[in-house]
Amino acid sequence: MTETTDPHPGDPFGDVLSANAAYADSFVDSGRPGVAGSGLAVLTCMDSRISPLEVLGLVPGDAKILRNAGARVTDDVLRTLVLATYLLGVQRVLVLAHTDCGMTKNTDADVHAKVLAQGVDTRSIDFRTISDQEATLVHDVQRIRSWPFLPPRMPVAGGVYDVRTGRIRIVVDADTPAEETPATAPAR
Ligand SMILES: [Zn+2]
Repeated sequence: MTETTDPHPGDPFGDVLSANAAYADSFVDSGRPGVAGSGLAVLTCMDSRISPLEVLGLVPGDAKILRNAGARVTDDVLRTLVLATYLLGVQRVLVLAHTDCGMTKNTDADVHAKVLAQGVDTRSIDFRTISDQEATLVHDVQRIRSWPFLPPRMPVAGGVYDVRTGRIRIVVDADTPAEETPATAPAR
């Protein structure tokens, strides 16, 4: 929606609130509960081109969607997966990185420099930028598999979504035993 059609000039959220009003007018409550109906949790990037439910042929109510910069497995992702697994029906996890990801195009030092140029020193933040996307996927999938609070045999896979074709390429198969996973990932 462009500013010229915004009926709420000056309201930074006017466009989306207007869109929501239209959405709610035709909204039909599915009546589904808050558990993941397909048993799936997806961890993907915040990239604005990825629509996780559509990409996977799902609809609201089917899956838990976790997002952050780079689809990285952080402490908060692990915390959320424990809740999703034991309380909200999740039985499998897909870590979904993507092509053309900004996190693969910058080092942490690059990010610090770019933000410092805007007057903010971010050097206390570990941005978890990605130097080797496949090695990072192996590392992050293994981090979930080895997290002691999650079921040890829960299927966890890692893939890369191509933002130009819409296709997912699996990099880490769900049935790859943890002990056979290459130990080449970066140590963070
Ligand atoms: Zn990304």
